[in-house]
Formats: sequence, structure tokens, C-alpha cells
Amino acid sequence: MSTPLSIFWFRRDLRLDDNAGLLHALSSGLPVLPIFIFDPAILSGLPPNDARVTFIYDTLQSLRAELECKHATSLALYFGNPLQVFDQILHSYPVAAVYCNHDYEPDARKRDETVCKWLQVRSVAFHSYKDHVIFEKNEIVKENGSVYEVYTPYMHKWRKIQNQTTLMTYSIAPKLNNMIKQMPLPNLTLTNIGFDRSTITIPFCRLNAELLQHYARDRDFPALSRTSLLGPHLRFGTVSIRQIFKQALDSSDTFANELIWREFFSQILWHFPRTQHSCFKMRYDRIPWRNDETEFKRWCEGTTGYPLVDAGMRQLNATGFMHNRLRMITASFLCKHLLIDWRWGEAYFAEKLLDYDMASNIGNWQWVAGCGVDAVPYFRIFNPTLQIKKFDRNFDYIQTWVNEWQTPAYSKPIVDHVLARERCLNVYRQAVG
Ligand SMILES: Cc1cc2nc3c(=O)[nH]c(=O)nc-3n(C[C@H](O)[C@H](O)[C@H](O)COP(=O)(O)OP(=O)(O)OC[C@H]3O[C@@H](n4cnc5c(N)ncnc54)[C@H](O)[C@@H]3O)c2cc1C
Repeated sequence: MSTPLSIFWFRRDLRLDDNAGLLHALSSGLPVLPIFIFDPAILSGLPPNDARVTFIYDTLQSLRAELECKHATSLALYFGNPLQVFDQILHSYPVAAVYCNHDYEPDARKRDETVCKWLQVRSVAFHSYKDHVIFEKNEIVKENGSVYEVYTPYMHKWRKIQNQTTLMTYSIAPKLNNMIKQMPLPNLTLTNIGFDRSTITIPFCRLNAELLQHYARDRDFPALSRTSLLGPHLRFGTVSIRQIFKQALDSSDTFANELIWREFFSQILWHFPRTQHSCFKMRYDRIPWRNDETEFKRWCEGTTGYPLVDAGMRQLNATGFMHNRLRMITASFLCKHLLIDWRWGEAYFAEKLLDYDMASNIGNWQWVAGCGVDAVPYFRIFNPTLQIKKFDRNFDYIQTWVNEWQTPAYSKPIVDHVLARERCLNVYRQAVG
């Protein structure tokens, strides 16, 4: 093949509609080769039947099918280190430029810098665009240019700056015929990349007008199960954040504010990549965590003897989802009642959550542990029994997940709430007080 072409590199933006980088690639004036790379550096830490990998794989196959049926083109799937894959592609095609969308996670940023330099040496341009959020990097900062570390003023500024232009969607359909006209393109099976099909499937997003109308009233009651389940779809980009915000801003301030939390944590991780491993408030790294492995195992399994905590952990283990109220309660219980390092819990959530997103997971874990931006004060400790009265008064959620609750088979409490609270206050006070 001698005509130069552009590449569009799909990553966490798995859709053909309203995709910033894809639109730029299709407007480059050159035919576009769409690719996805399964990177063993990312896959190697995951269990062999990881539901997220199955979801990515199935989504890619749907994109391939759509491109093949409607546009006489396809999507090339590769497995390998991105540099090796680009080397292979550059041996087969005269590539002029690679297009993609920004990924803000620290390891992804390093990868993209390496790829960009490697391509430039070979006279191939690298173009990356904002697609995953409405505002990124330094777009929302204080008047003096410093970073917002408190959510509420960030949210007000976000709302002040946001307008029809920032929410403008990218119309791609008319340009899809600019894709390379070549079939078949390389494909893979799940087995080729070392994975089995998961039995857990990612639920459909259930965002609709009715859910938004009652979101503020219902969202805190896990038994009602009236949240959007949007998380994995935003994580993998099967929906466009611009379209979601348009719906949210028109219908529910509360829902829009939750999406702004996502943007807030995204910019925090971008400005402070060190928070991937250490507390935003560095003095909290002095806390002498107890890190009892047996207690951690009981927390993971959902056998702490605190029924709401156990219900949350069992929902997570069985479905890959846990309601936000339960994420707060279980995380607080781990860090404060058991004095186990928030990083252990963060890693467990990262392994299990279908909507795992580094910025939101770390931001929220540090928020709960008291060591993050705008975090809860350390002396605010959820009482897991009072939380039942407030949010699961009829025990519906507990009964769904903890069958043996109120039978002799149910575990005795792993710690006494009053003693654990005192212990936590003493340890935190001495370390950071
Ligand atoms: C300890 C802990 C860990 C968490 N880890 C993650 C994570 O890995 N990935 C993740 O997307 N969310 C995380 N959250 C935030 C929140 O719990 C989930 O976004 C929400 O439960 C997902 O369900 P939903 O899509 O039905 O949410 P909805 O209530 O319908 O909210 C819609 C969307 O708003 C965003 N959102 C809502 N709450 C938050 C929040 N507190 N912080 C950031 N974004 C928010 C999410 O994108 C969510 O999908 C965590 C919260 C806690 C307390």
C-alpha cells in the first residue's frame, strides 16, 4: 500500500459517535486505519476471566461488525507492547499520523510520551485530544492559577465556565466513509490475549428522564437501586460525556454534581500523579496502619459481622458493582474500624469494580480515609449500625446479600464499634493531629 494514511488508536473511547480524536483523524484528509492494542502490561495483573476485558473485547467486536456492515472497513486488533505494534504497523503501511484521545492516568501519560517520541523520530505525527471529560488539566483553576483542592468552588467555577460550546458534540457519521477500505483487518480471540469469557456482564446504563427526575430523592438507598450504572460506560467510553452532561444539566443538579466530582478527581490525579501511591495530605502517610491480614480477608469476603458492610462487599464480589453509599461505608470501616491502609482497599476495589477508574477510586478512597483533597475530617467515623437505620431501614438490601443474617451461622462482629472508634481516633490524632 503506498497512499499515506492516518491511524486512530482506540483506548478508553470505544464508540464511533461523538469521539473527538476520531473526528480529527477522519478530517485529516487521509484514509484512516482504526486500531486497538491489547497491552500485556495492562492485562497481566488481571484475573483470567476479568469481566472488563470481556466487555472491551465484545465492544470491539461490535464496532468491527458495524464498520464492516455499514462502511466497508473494519477495526484492526493487536496484542503486544504499543511500540512493537506500531513498529509492525509501520512496516506494513505508510503512516503519516497517529490520532487518539488523552488518557490522564500516570502510567498512560508516560506511555503516550514514549509513543509520541518514538513516532516523531520516524516522522509520524502524534495528535491527542480531550474527549473523556468536559474540562481537563488547567482549564478550571483559581484566579491566581492554582489548582482547586476543594470540590464546591471547583464545581461553581465548572458551572460558570460551561456553555453550549464546551458541550458541543462531534458529528462523525458523515465522515466514517473516510476509513481505509480494507477487509479483513487483523482480529483476535479472547484466548489469543490469554483470557476466558467472564460470567459477569456489564449492565446497561439505565439513565433516563425518570431516573434523573427522582435521582436526588432515591440515590442514597441501595435497596431501591436507582442509580444510573453509567460508571463502566464512562470508563470505557461507550457513551460520550458531552451527551451525558447535556441530559444531566437539563434535568438534575444533583446528578450533574456527581459527574463534576468525576471531573474534579480526574484533574486532581493529573495535577498530583503522586496520589496514585501516596496520600494527598502527606502527613497521613505517618499513620501506623494495623494491616491485619485475617481481618482484611474477612472484610473482602463480607464476614465482618456488620451486616451492611458485609452486604456491600458481597454485592461487589458477586456483581462487580457496589452502591456508592456502601462504597463509603465499607471503605470507612476498613480504614477506620480496622485501621487497614486505604491502599489495600483501593487495590481490592480496583480488581473487582467494573467501573474502576483510577482517579475516582483513589480520590474517593483518600476522601474516606481523610487523607485526600476535600476529605471528610478523620474524626467523622461512619457508625455502620446507624447507617442501616438511615439507608436500609427495612433491611431489604441486607437481606438480599446476607442470607444467614440473624441466624446462628452469621459471623460475630469483628470489632466492637465503640472501641474501634476510640482506637482509630487515638491513632489518627497521634499521627496527624
Ligand atoms: C471508596 C469509593 C471508591 C469509588 N471508586 C470508584 C471508581 O473506581 N470508579 C467510579 O467511577 N466511581 C467510583 N466511586 C464513586 C461512585 O461510588 C460511583 O461512581 C458510583 O457508585 C457508580 O454507580 P453509578 O454509575 O450507578 O452512579 P450514579 O450515582 O448514577 O452517578 C453517575 C456517575 O457520576 C459519577 N460519580 C458519582 N459519584 C461519584 C463520586 N463520588 N466520585 C466520582 N464520580 C462520581 C460516576 O461517573 C457515575 O457513574 C467510588 C466511591 C467510593 C466511596
